[in-house]
Parts: sequence; C-alpha cells; structure tokens
Amino acid sequence: MKTLARRWRRALRPPAPDTAEFAYRRGGLLALLACGVFVSAFTLLAQVGNDFSDADRLALSVIILKNVAFMVWLWRWPRHFLAIGLTELLLEIGAAIFRLYVTLHSPPSMNGLGGYAPWMIVTYLAAFLVLPTRAALGVSLTQFGGLLLVGVGFSLSPGSHPALRAALGNTLLQTYLVHATFIAFLALQQRLLQHYVHALVTARHEASLAHQDALTGLPNRRQLTTWLQGALPQVSHQPLSVVLFDLDHFKRVNDTYGHEVGDQTLQRVAQVLRRCLRQRDRAGRWGGEEFLILVDGDADAALTVAERLRDALSRERHPQVGPVTISCGVAPASLHDSPDLLLRRADEALYRAKHAGRNTVTIAA
Ligand code: GH3
Ligand code: MG
Ligand code: MG
Repeated sequence: MKTLARRWRRALRPPAPDTAEFAYRRGGLLALLACGVFVSAFTLLAQVGNDFSDADRLALSVIILKNVAFMVWLWRWPRHFLAIGLTELLLEIGAAIFRLYVTLHSPPSMNGLGGYAPWMIVTYLAAFLVLPTRAALGVSLTQFGGLLLVGVGFSLSPGSHPALRAALGNTLLQTYLVHATFIAFLALQQRLLQHYVHALVTARHEASLAHQDALTGLPNRRQLTTWLQGALPQVSHQPLSVVLFDLDHFKRVNDTYGHEVGDQTLQRVAQVLRRCLRQRDRAGRWGGEEFLILVDGDADAALTVAERLRDALSRERHPQVGPVTISCGVAPASLHDSPDLLLRRADEALYRAKHAGRNTVTIAA
C-alpha cells in the first residue's frame, strides 16, 4: 500500500519550486485560470445568443469565482500547485462529461455542442501543465474516454432524439478528432520540453564542473582567475588580499605512502580549508598541491586566515601521514594589479616562506 502511494506520488511529482520549469508550469496554470475568468466574464457581458439560460449564467459566474479563488490560492501558496492542479482537473473533467451528457440528452437547442465544445480541450492543456507526461496523458485519456462513452451511448441509444442525432453526428465526430489531435500534440510537445529541460540541467551541471577541481571539489584555477578578474577592479573600495599556500614536502607523502594516500591528504586539506574560511572569503585549488585563498580584507586579515589554517592543519592528523604543514605567501592587492602581478608577489612570498624553513606565513614585500 505504501509503495503504491509512493509510486503515485513519484508519478505526479511537479518540478522543484525553485526551478524555471516550475515557474513556467505555475505561470501557465495561472494564465489558463485568468483566461477562464476573462472568457466567462466576456461571455456573460456579451450575452451571445438569445437562448442564454439562467443555468448558463450561473455556471459562468461559478467559473469566474472558482478561477479567481484558485488564482489567489496558487499565487499565495505555490507549494500547493499539485493539489490545486488536480482539483482543477477533476472539476474540468467532471464538468465536460456532465455537460456533454446533458446536451445530448436534452431537447435540441440552437446552441447544440457549438457553445462550449471547443473549451473541453482546456482540460488537456491544464493536465499537461500540471502533471508529468505519462500522468497527463492518463488524465487526458480519462476525459476523452468519458466523452467517448457518452457520445457512443447517445448514438446507440434508441431513445435519443433522432433530430439531435442527425444534427450533432458530425460535430461530435469532429470534436473527438480535435481532442485526439490535441492530446497527441501536447504529449509530443511535453516530451520535447522534457528533453530541453534535461539538456539544460546537464549543460548547467557540466558548466559548473568546468569550474571545479575533480579531486577536492574546490573551485579550480579557472574559477579563481575569474573571481580575481572580477574583484581586482573593485580594490579601491573593497580591499582584497590573496594567500597562496603549498604543502610542505608533499613529494615525500607520495613517495612514502603512495599516490592514493597523497590524494586523500589533498582532500583532507581541502576540507580543513573549507572549515577555516570566513563566509566572505573564497578559495580553490590553484594546481598540484598549491591552493589559493581570496581574502576579503587587507594583509592583516589574510595573515589571520593563513595562521588559522596552519593551526587547524597542525591539529588534523592523517592516520598514516600525521599532520600536514603548509607554507603561505600573503599578498595584498593594490590598484592596477592584474591577476598575474598579484600572484607573482604571492608566489615570491611563498618562496621566502619555504626558504625560511617552511610551516610559516610570509607577507609580500
Ligand atoms: P616543498 O616543501 O618544497 O613544496 O616540497 P614538495 O615535495 O611539496 O614539492 P615538490 O614540488 O617537489 O612536489 C610536489 C609534489 O606534489 C609532486 C607531485 O607528485 C605531487 N602532486 C601534485 N599534484 C598531486 C595530486 O593531485 N595528487 C598527488 N597524490 N600528488 C600530487
Ligand atoms: Mg610542496
Ligand atoms: Mg608546489
């Protein structure tokens, strides 16, 4: 029972609320409801034909009130999208089948099917907006099947009015054909939309991978360079410093424990680095066993970040390798710095830190 409920929920699940697809579907349903209000109000005001009954007037007024209520509901509570959509579909399917039945089993009128038959296809539009393809197809075919049953029952029933049968025969047939065409077209269009959304999500994912280091998951050199290029022109009112750091004697780790343990060590360093960053600072893997931090602040702020990291790493012990030490070069950005110039100064400072005996932080001259 539980698995069945879970399967149903999965089959009906709308896209996540923060996606463009959800915005499209919710906007589409809102537009459809608004169209219903406009069309009903216009029909009421225009009073097309003289055979406008009180029941018609009542039905149009109810549609207007219901649609406005649903629009407010959907606008105010987007998370109720599926509940609102399913309620709307249920009402539309019920109304379509009921209206067709009543029309076919009432005395012939001037309107016949002409007045509302075209609007029955709105259910299919709503179904493909609210539901994923298979569920939408199922719901659409449910309405189509219901209408078909009513029509076939009418055609076969000896009691049905012969004049009405003669007058409506072709209209009914064309209505079914239009409905079938609509459902097929919407199903194809929905598949196309899903392929498009899938391609978009994949492309976005791949684009993010292009800026990510595969081993550590940190931003890579390309991303860091982009950030630097964006931040450097702002230096006059937003101070920026960089910390370039390099693992000490890392070759020994590889040589002693193997490349795999070396990789794990780099991953642990990345984890500690993430923990040590303030929210405003950014960091990534510059290459090999070198990392770069962009500090939102002056050289003192960068010095503090670097010392905090050095301290955290000294307390982080790999079971085999033990604590890892780093040497850091700090360089504050100045006006008219390019990424290359700034990085060169940080690299020189790092070089001096190595020569000073490693496991230390040096500020660029
Ligand atoms: P120093 O203190 O002077 O920096 O010494 P070091 O041994 O760290 O410096 P060196 O440049 O001689 O060696 C860096 C080593 O980092 C060599 C290289 O194999 C290793 N390395 C670079 N990238 C990776 C990686 O992705 N995985 C592993 N396991 N090792 C890497
Ligand atoms: Mg090194
Ligand atoms: Mg190195």
